[in-house]
Amino acid sequence: MNCPSCDVEMVDLESPDETLRKCGECGGLWVDVSDLNRMLLHAGLPGLETLGGRVNPDEMCGQCPECLVDLVRVEGGDRKHPVEYDTCESCGGVLLESEFKDATDAVSAKKEIVAFFKRFSNPSPKGKAAQF
Ligand SMILES: [Zn+2]
Ligand SMILES: [Zn+2]
Repeated sequence: MNCPSCDVEMVDLESPDETLRKCGECGGLWVDVSDLNRMLLHAGLPGLETLGGRVNPDEMCGQCPECLVDLVRVEGGDRKHPVEYDTCESCGGVLLESEFKDATDAVSAKKEIVAFFKRFSNPSPKGKAAQF
């Protein structure tokens, strides 16, 4: 299966339970929606459907490598730290882009995915000034 962004073959990350594929070119991760929901529920998060997010209809994403339909960009997080993923409305596959260059095995990839969706679903409190 090829990366929707780069059109290079993605590699399987070894895992007994999940289907995770990673693009060596851009670091993007492709996750099956049922596997993703299981990971989220395991981490105490709601399923993908209830995490919210806004569809950005103007964004051009690639095509689903399995269904050959256009992917849909979904944006979440807060305004300062927006996060986004692409999803296939046909098979429910999810492409997480670029954030996962360091994830070289399924265990670290899963941690990164859960951290990603925590950011996605948890905008910082309103009116709080940036600190650093
Ligand atoms: Zn790629
Ligand atoms: Zn698909």
